[in-house]
Amino acid sequence: VKCEVVAVGTELLLGQIVDTNSSWIGEQLAQAGIDSFFQTKVGDNFDRMKVAFGEALERSDAVIVTGGLGPTQDDITRNVIADLLGVELIRRQEIVDKIEAMFGLHGRKMPQNNLLQADVPAGAEPIPVQPGTAAGLVCPVGDGRVIYAVPGVPWEMKKMVTDFVIGDMRKRGGITSVIKSRTLRTWGSSESGLAEKLGPELERIDSAGGATIAYNASGIEGLKLRLTAKGDNEAHADEQLADGEARVRAIVGDDLIFGIDGETMEHAVLDLCRQQGLTLALAESLTGGLIGARMTAVPGSSDVFKGSIVSYASDVKSSLLGVTETLDVSEAAAVSMAGGVCAALSADCSVAVTGVAGPEPWQGVQAGTVYMTSMLDGVAKTTKVEWPFDRNRIREFTVINALNGLRLRLIARAESADTTSAAGDAP
Ligand code: ATP
Ligand code: MG
Repeated sequence: VKCEVVAVGTELLLGQIVDTNSSWIGEQLAQAGIDSFFQTKVGDNFDRMKVAFGEALERSDAVIVTGGLGPTQDDITRNVIADLLGVELIRRQEIVDKIEAMFGLHGRKMPQNNLLQADVPAGAEPIPVQPGTAAGLVCPVGDGRVIYAVPGVPWEMKKMVTDFVIGDMRKRGGITSVIKSRTLRTWGSSESGLAEKLGPELERIDSAGGATIAYNASGIEGLKLRLTAKGDNEAHADEQLADGEARVRAIVGDDLIFGIDGETMEHAVLDLCRQQGLTLALAESLTGGLIGARMTAVPGSSDVFKGSIVSYASDVKSSLLGVTETLDVSEAAAVSMAGGVCAALSADCSVAVTGVAGPEPWQGVQAGTVYMTSMLDGVAKTTKVEWPFDRNRIREFTVINALNGLRLRLIARAESADTTSAAGDAP
């Protein structure tokens, strides 16, 4: 099946809105194993929309139009489709009722304009999933081809595409294979470093098949490796994913992979602390509470995470954390912060970060210089970096890098506890 996307809206052409809908739909199509070779943008103009829809339909089996389903005069997607197919628009009472009910929920009366949203080209059907007032459309064109119209509002569009359009398109195209993907989140290697290690494996997959691998550098979320498998059925796809994951782990090493799918670095650190019965505190300077915010975003983190002291100013570092060093951005200061916050918040382990987020130097220290200390079992370990990034990226990389430092120590700690107890158990 070949499907293309047409995004409607003059604002898209003027650069007032970035067309994120098309990229998002493109990603969904790729994941579903549907080929997509063209994406078009067109303004809210009847003739030009008709040309765009018609050309798309000639090239592809399916077309997804996003936008132009609203209740205003310039929302003419349904009219253009009806004209292109040479049919009338028919007002559907069940959609009128639905829209009226939605207005009723908000205690308002439906404006007459919204009636236009209940018009459906003859031979077409409304998309059964309707999160907002705009009904989507499924318009079969004959010879198996089809036009889908979905709203421009991103959350409405996404719900319709995920819950209906992709499945319907696969059904019409007779696609029965199952596509599944799994994301391995990594930290500690550059994209090119990973690509070099995995190069031979990618070549092997090319010839022998199996789950494919794609890289996606996602800043604070880590460098993601997405495995995608296409199988005859669910079990077959799962099998390929498991095999792919095992191979990747064997090549890049377990330590590099901190999480699967939605598991963040914070999850990983919290889980390791929990398993080892440790509480955690943070002392943050350049990240200004960013690490703490991410910790508390994880449900159930309160049994491990005690809190974060945002010690941005020098006098706060000294009064709350007992930092005596004159240089705020130094290894000694980071170590004092890490020790100070363990004491202040009675925590078993801690992470402390101090650095210069830039763009200007501070106390003679260059922007991008960051010290990250982890304190565990009373031992401080510090990493110093000099990053050539902008302020935002320096702060984000500090968050994930600092946490990763503690994560690796917690893994090593668990492993050494294992070997000690195993040795102790021996007769
Ligand atoms: P409705 O969802 O009511 O049918 P519509 O389909 O006409 O409306 P628009 O009025 O064009 O959609 O846009 C509504 C909102 O959706 C706008 O706020 C716009 O920011 C967003 N939007 C529209 N098209 C896109 C797109 N291609 N990418 C990202 N956002 C979009
Ligand atoms: Mg519009």
